[in-house]
Amino acid sequence: MLILDLNNLCAMDTEGIVIRIKTPAGDMDSAVDCPSLLNFNDLLVAIRDVMPEATVTAFEYEDEVGDRITVRSDEELKAMLSYYYNTMNEQRMNGLLPDPLQIFPRAGKTPGNRNIHGLKVNTRPNPANDCTQAVPDSMANNSLKKSSAELKRILTNGQISAQDINYQEQLGHGNGGTVYKAYHVLGKRVLAVKVIPLDITVELQKQIMSELEILYKCDSPYIITFFSAFFVENRISICTEFMDGGSLDVYKRIPEHVLGRIAVAVVKGLTYLWSLKILHRDVKPSNMLVNTRGQVKLCDFGVSTQLVNSIAKTYVGTNAYMAPERISGEQYGIHADVWSVGISFMELALGMFPYPQIQKNQGSLMPLQLLQCIVDEDPPVFPVGQFSEKFVHFITQCMRRQPKERPAPNNLMEHSFITQFNDGNAEVVSMWVCRCLEERRAQQGL
Ligand code: ATP
Ligand code: MG
Repeated sequence: MLILDLNNLCAMDTEGIVIRIKTPAGDMDSAVDCPSLLNFNDLLVAIRDVMPEATVTAFEYEDEVGDRITVRSDEELKAMLSYYYNTMNEQRMNGLLPDPLQIFPRAGKTPGNRNIHGLKVNTRPNPANDCTQAVPDSMANNSLKKSSAELKRILTNGQISAQDINYQEQLGHGNGGTVYKAYHVLGKRVLAVKVIPLDITVELQKQIMSELEILYKCDSPYIITFFSAFFVENRISICTEFMDGGSLDVYKRIPEHVLGRIAVAVVKGLTYLWSLKILHRDVKPSNMLVNTRGQVKLCDFGVSTQLVNSIAKTYVGTNAYMAPERISGEQYGIHADVWSVGISFMELALGMFPYPQIQKNQGSLMPLQLLQCIVDEDPPVFPVGQFSEKFVHFITQCMRRQPKERPAPNNLMEHSFITQFNDGNAEVVSMWVCRCLEERRAQQGL
């Protein structure tokens, strides 16, 4: 068992240490005045500042024989500092100036292709091969009128065009399109680009572009940042912020203290959208994204009716996360999003879709008849004793069959399950995402 000598750490505080972050682009030295106050997450944040494009979930240091030792927690960090202190002392006793503490960031792979539902889509040519295609002038110049605030924002984000994007790996595909990780050369930033093939008229393309304009105005830490959208031939590319933890559907059962923090972000994100009179319309785990900084953001909300309609013409089916009133084709509103929050979080807590009779092996779109049980039957209940009363109450309220009986936006935010986790503690989610990515990496033998 590892016994940490905390005296070592306090002794180091009197003189401070230098940490050398070894990156592919070179070394980066940072002075740390009080090593005893340093925690694992602080150091990860510092590493990410130096390597903004990498998904850093842990780092390593070398022991006296050159073996690499991984650091993934505060405990392991203390062990590393303690080891370093001893080395430093030895070097001093030999009349040498101590070397900086060298650490080697471990950049994990992003979640990558999951297709856990065995979904099959048409394989289309990789846009990387023809991104030299000229963008129609009308789109490139973006002749649509913008307010000065919007323009300022677009300029800050950098207007993106197809020529400036280098496509990297495929992150996944859904019912409408394929999402790629990509690098925007001019903006020097990593993007997620969703490419959706659409056989529509130029008029409709313009209408979609105009409907997407509202995305420039969305500004919330709980909503994925939208950078740009453009058509090339019959494909629309939608460029957004890249989230290195991917979507929640690929994580197994999520423990309640993590799920609580995620729920707070999701409720805040939805409240923000609703305040702009935008219904999300597609709340589900694959549209909730996380990153190694512990941020949680919503994506794929239906701001463009034309885009949603055009995709729906190609991909037929009904979304299994839809509220009963939507499945039955009735009118719906905010309460339908609230149902989808309930069923999504129930799935995330259980690690399986809450209606066992519905096998979601075809993605989230299903034939309507298969979803009839959501309309006809009582909502599912949790197994007894496995989850807190507050959580069970939250889900039960969100999944009331009568839309009006579900919590209204204010009540959602004030629910005791949400208030108890509304503490701004991103570290809980960050540590959990990093741990899961590390586990996945180990399973893949990386
Ligand atoms: P649907 O088409 O019904 O929305 P979906 O959400 O599974 O289904 P996509 O929206 O095409 O499908 O997304 C595919 C996958 O790409 C997601 O499940 C997610 O893992 C990944 N992804 C999407 N956007 C991002 C992003 N901004 N950052 C990182 N990964 C992303
Ligand atoms: Mg999606």
